[in-house]
Amino acid sequence: MPVSGLDPYDDQNIFAKILRGAIPNRTVYEDEFVLAFHDIAPQAEVHVLVIPKGAYVSLVDFAAKASEVEIAGFWRAVGRIAGDLGLEQSGYRILANHGTDAGQEVPHFHVHLFGGGPLGRMIQT
Ligand code: AMP
Repeated sequence: MPVSGLDPYDDQNIFAKILRGAIPNRTVYEDEFVLAFHDIAPQAEVHVLVIPKGAYVSLVDFAAKASEVEIAGFWRAVGRIAGDLGLEQSGYRILANHGTDAGQEVPHFHVHLFGGGPLGRMIQT
């Protein structure tokens, strides 16, 4: 069921379980601020999810509550991962879903990083 924009953080969400080590993941990168891992149902040749280690439902929640250090650490990691995956020259796309209209499934803020080939139109309805 898509996440409503106003839902509180649910610590039983699948990414919270991944962060606790209760569910395995294919880790691409980890530091004190983020965990990045391959999406279980990839929609591009490269499809990596980058999640903050803190408990944030959405970008609005993250922007309001995370410290400057966490925010800087998160976005620095997203850029670093795109570079480390060799996508800087060929190109990539980042995307974050929030709420019902965007079809967000997992209520822990995350950025999708897509690449590895042509990505088509930005939005398909
Ligand atoms: P969103 O719709 O933006 O909330 O995206 C959630 C993403 O999480 C989807 O692309 C799912 O394929 C992915 N996903 C769900 N469960 C797992 C899992 N256990 N490991 C990796 N990716 C997952």
